[in-house]
Amino acid sequence: MSGWSLASATDVGRVRSANEDSLGTKGNLAVVADGMGGHAAGEVASGIAVATFLESASTATTLDELTDAVRAANLAILDNVAENPDRWGMGTTLVATALIPHAEGVALAYVHVGDSRIYLIRDGAIRQVTDDHSVADELVRLGRLTPEEAAVDPRRHQLTRALGTERDVAIDSGLLNAQPGDFLILCSDGLSNEVSDHDMIDIVESSADLALATARLIDHANSAGGRDNISVVIARITEQLVSVEEKPRLPVEPVAPTFAPSATSGLTSRRTVRRRWPVIAVVALVLALVVGGGYQILNWWYYSSYYLTLTSQGVTLYQGQTTSVLWFQANEILAEPSLTAANLRPADIASLNAKMVEPTSAAAISQIHYFKTYALIPGQG
Ligand code: MN
Repeated sequence: MSGWSLASATDVGRVRSANEDSLGTKGNLAVVADGMGGHAAGEVASGIAVATFLESASTATTLDELTDAVRAANLAILDNVAENPDRWGMGTTLVATALIPHAEGVALAYVHVGDSRIYLIRDGAIRQVTDDHSVADELVRLGRLTPEEAAVDPRRHQLTRALGTERDVAIDSGLLNAQPGDFLILCSDGLSNEVSDHDMIDIVESSADLALATARLIDHANSAGGRDNISVVIARITEQLVSVEEKPRLPVEPVAPTFAPSATSGLTSRRTVRRRWPVIAVVALVLALVVGGGYQILNWWYYSSYYLTLTSQGVTLYQGQTTSVLWFQANEILAEPSLTAANLRPADIASLNAKMVEPTSAAAISQIHYFKTYALIPGQG
């Protein structure tokens, strides 16, 4: 099945020592994954995701089968972690597009988890197809940040969804309208953070061919700083595709996964300490491994839960258990100042004061939206 031409490129950038992104194209499939986890685990996660997705999706003929392929990629990462506990905490984003058969011809489909992006460029205009699954973007959806503020907010790096963190992953998917001459860009945030929409359009539309366009996009991201790994796939639509009603499908899973582990997790700091003292007695090393393993498990358990409570900032979401354990303390994720004791229902205030435990960040954020529908917020009648 043709219908598009493709080019892709990836680059380590100017700051990182390793490239944790992976990408792949195969006939009717294009995929980009941005791994995280450090110490080579990030590239393992993104590599597994791309390979598993391309394999599982190669026979996909429906949107359901494409999302199944993303689910297979998620489980493959979790299985790999189970076999290699030192890779605990690795995860990845994934964006993919596919040409799939449709009753009237060939349709363009996409799947998405995380903060990698899909853009569509047509006649000098660009449209971001995907929503970022990050805390900053959730704050935009809550009306607390403008898109411009979110673009520079450090919480844009804090993912609310990723592959490799939970068995049930919420996957965005849909069909897209595209016509011959349109360009699709799939990229990791190392491109979207460094290259403006305007420059993306300019480079893609003025390049003699797709390979040159991918190279120029990467050069441009590197000139702007190259602070992260940069990956890009460009697809140029070459045939008439089925025109569809663009209606993003809501993820069907009951809950979405947790925040990806942050760079300040115990795993990272433990390894740093061990590196600083490279030569120690074997007994001490074994002891450190035992203690370190326990720390890792405790760290995982402590931050595997979320709760909502009422603070002077309004309804506030924390990641962590409701009480501190040893040196572990819950981290504040976000606050919703429009929800206070003045406008919440008494029963909700009582629940919040007792701390409402939520299994995932997505569940907690849904709860905040639910409170907002009931709260008497001035100006909202
Ligand atoms: Mn990245």
